[in-house]
Amino acid sequence: MTKTSFHTPIHVIGGGLAGSEAAWQIAETGVPVILHEMRGVRGTDAHKTDSLAELVCSNSFRSDDATSNAVGVLHAEMRLAGSLIMRSADANQVPAGGALAVDRDGFSAAVTAALDSHPLIAITREEVTGLPPEEWDQAIIATGPLTAPSLAAAIQARTGADSLAFFDAIAPIVHTASIDMDVCWFQSRYDKVGPGGTGKDYINCPMDEAQYNAFVDALIAGDTTGFKEWEGTPYFDGCLPIEVMAERGRETLRHGPMKPMGLTNAHNPTVKAYAVVQLRQDNALGTLYNMVGFQTKLKYGAQAEIFRLIPGLENAEFARLGGLHRNTYINSPTLLDRSLTLKGRPGLRFAGQITGCEGYVESASIGLLAGRFAAAERLGQAPVLPPETTAFGALLNHITGGHIVSDDEPGKRSFQPMNVNFGLFPPLEPGAVVRPEGLKRFRGKDKAVAKKQATAARALEDCARWLGR
Ligand SMILES: Cc1cc2nc3c(=O)[nH]c(=O)nc-3n(C[C@H](O)[C@H](O)[C@H](O)COP(=O)(O)OP(=O)(O)OC[C@H]3O[C@@H](n4cnc5c(N)ncnc54)[C@H](O)[C@@H]3O)c2cc1C
Repeated sequence: MTKTSFHTPIHVIGGGLAGSEAAWQIAETGVPVILHEMRGVRGTDAHKTDSLAELVCSNSFRSDDATSNAVGVLHAEMRLAGSLIMRSADANQVPAGGALAVDRDGFSAAVTAALDSHPLIAITREEVTGLPPEEWDQAIIATGPLTAPSLAAAIQARTGADSLAFFDAIAPIVHTASIDMDVCWFQSRYDKVGPGGTGKDYINCPMDEAQYNAFVDALIAGDTTGFKEWEGTPYFDGCLPIEVMAERGRETLRHGPMKPMGLTNAHNPTVKAYAVVQLRQDNALGTLYNMVGFQTKLKYGAQAEIFRLIPGLENAEFARLGGLHRNTYINSPTLLDRSLTLKGRPGLRFAGQITGCEGYVESASIGLLAGRFAAAERLGQAPVLPPETTAFGALLNHITGGHIVSDDEPGKRSFQPMNVNFGLFPPLEPGAVVRPEGLKRFRGKDKAVAKKQATAARALEDCARWLGR
């Protein structure tokens, strides 16, 4: 290191989107960093280069609209916080309409050059094969969805077999406000109350026989995404994609996740539903519900089309569509404290996709937070968490505490990775959305857009305050 610092270095393991941002944030506070990246010595199944912050697939950072899109708000907050990832993306932008897309080689080269030339950052090309040794008193693990097996095994040995997943099995999540409650009703099967429930914990969507048959036909005909060769075919724990269940027999779903038993349609009590789709509360705010047992490999377009055939979900807005991918991630809500530190191991943080966020931008943003928190501790200060009203705070809250663990699906199956979306933000104060002048009717799409705009504006204001701007 050419510039001296009185501080002991912080170790960052993994030079992807999250680790690169974490290293930058730490170094910018005057604290030295040692960044350990294995590429150059050992590759992954998806990365193709040795550059830091390589984009393994698409070259898009998604919408750059900070006025009414949640990922656009996250972009803006990261720029406010001096993000290296955003600076490098902006400098390497290619035309992509309202999205921020980048020249992938130029982007990674810019990140690599900035980290390489920073006087407080040393980059070592090596695989870290176990948990950081105790003498690395401040460290961040940011090794991503393709964490090398030896380190993954060490994390699993420390946290427990149920705490590390190697595949996600994602069921779609719906914005509660977009579900038609004139068709659906709240009820738990057999009105069971359970330890934390009320007997009315699920939203139920009824189907008659004709609707069920049409739905099964649509599932079987739907376009699916294949697995990459290195992913294998991760059908496990009876966790089959719904379209695979549908293919196994017309009645399979009706005896599985869509069974109608123990449920009475509150709108039509004398008519027994032929099949029922259940949705379960997904976040503490109650703004999101997930479709129980609906993990799927259907393509996104096909999912939206087919799931809107379900009575009550005709106008569903999806906060997340389903998927099944190779993905290493920990059960963060139980393992990490609010500042991303592993409980019982002070000074050891996790960042990026391994914490259960999803996407380039989200991974980098959690790296940004972990870097700031670690640097604050090294400087003798307590980490100051971003307000939950910001995109940073909403995502951090999802990872470390906002998710609801269900009684019938506890552990790693319950917590699934998530992109940032407005469903993760706390609701607005009453009266926060005002009818624009000159608009006679103010509901439906207009009101939804106004709500997003108000949530985005609140986020940016609170983020600026948090950063002391
Ligand atoms: C195949 C695939 C495609 C994806 N496509 C997209 C997409 O199109 N858009 C999107 O937004 N998101 C996508 N993602 C999701 C995710 O956002 C990216 O994987 C993102 O790169 C995650 O950032 P990260 O920093 O957490 O992990 P990474 O960017 O993967 O960085 C982790 C780094 O840690 C290194 N490493 C791993 N183990 C060790 C070790 N033991 N010692 C030292 N170094 C180690 C790796 O080499 C890597 O450089 C995709 C994921 C995968 C797996």
